[in-house]
Amino acid sequence: KKITIAIDGFSSTGKSTVAKQLAKHLGYIYVDTGAMYRAVTLFAMQQGFIDKDHFNVDKLIAALDNITISFKFNETAGFAEVYLNGVNIEKEIRTLEVSQFVSQVAAVSEVRSQLVKQQQQMGKDKGVVMDGRDIGTVVFPDAELKLFMIASADKRAQRRFDELINRGDKVSFEEVLKNVEDRDYVDSHREDSPLRKADDAIEIDNSDLDLESQFKKVLELVNT
Ligand code: C5P
Repeated sequence: KKITIAIDGFSSTGKSTVAKQLAKHLGYIYVDTGAMYRAVTLFAMQQGFIDKDHFNVDKLIAALDNITISFKFNETAGFAEVYLNGVNIEKEIRTLEVSQFVSQVAAVSEVRSQLVKQQQQMGKDKGVVMDGRDIGTVVFPDAELKLFMIASADKRAQRRFDELINRGDKVSFEEVLKNVEDRDYVDSHREDSPLRKADDAIEIDNSDLDLESQFKKVLELVNT
């Protein structure tokens, strides 16, 4: 019987890695909800609604109906990539710049309600692994399995830093660490659906777990 798996947690705790592994193993679909908030953020940047000095929330809200986000499975990548109005933006949304604006955009209630609706639609037939910040608390409070991932800030920043450097982005470890910490703060203090562990979520600290043992552990949870 197909179930719904909700994976939440702080930034760069390895949520998407576990989610992708699980989806592949179970033949489920994987939905990266962070990519959706990043897509809206990229849209706001492209339209000039947000930059270092200002954020025109009203303009973004008024333009929300012009944003279409979709996912398309990429055989080579092995997961579904995100599209904004028909354009593949999988790579563009992973920049530090998008990361620096995304938490402000994600704090806007109108943005959240629109994306949450879409996420619930995507997962309505179960057989879904969804990762984010509010999946177990808001999007699918009845999910059969809820995981809450944590890891030390240093480990998390190191992972994000390695990813960015591997792509060829010029960033310093300090600014990546600051971004991870800033986002965690804003995400857990916003008024609308702040990041928190659902009461029935199982906490997984992967600071010192390698990928294989982590996956084994999670798979055991799926099978119980
Ligand atoms: O998962 P990722 O780090 O890509 O998410 C980027 C940002 O999107 C988070 O820092 C958070 O501000 C926002 N987000 C959210 N709710 C979700 C998923 C992501 O607010 N379900």
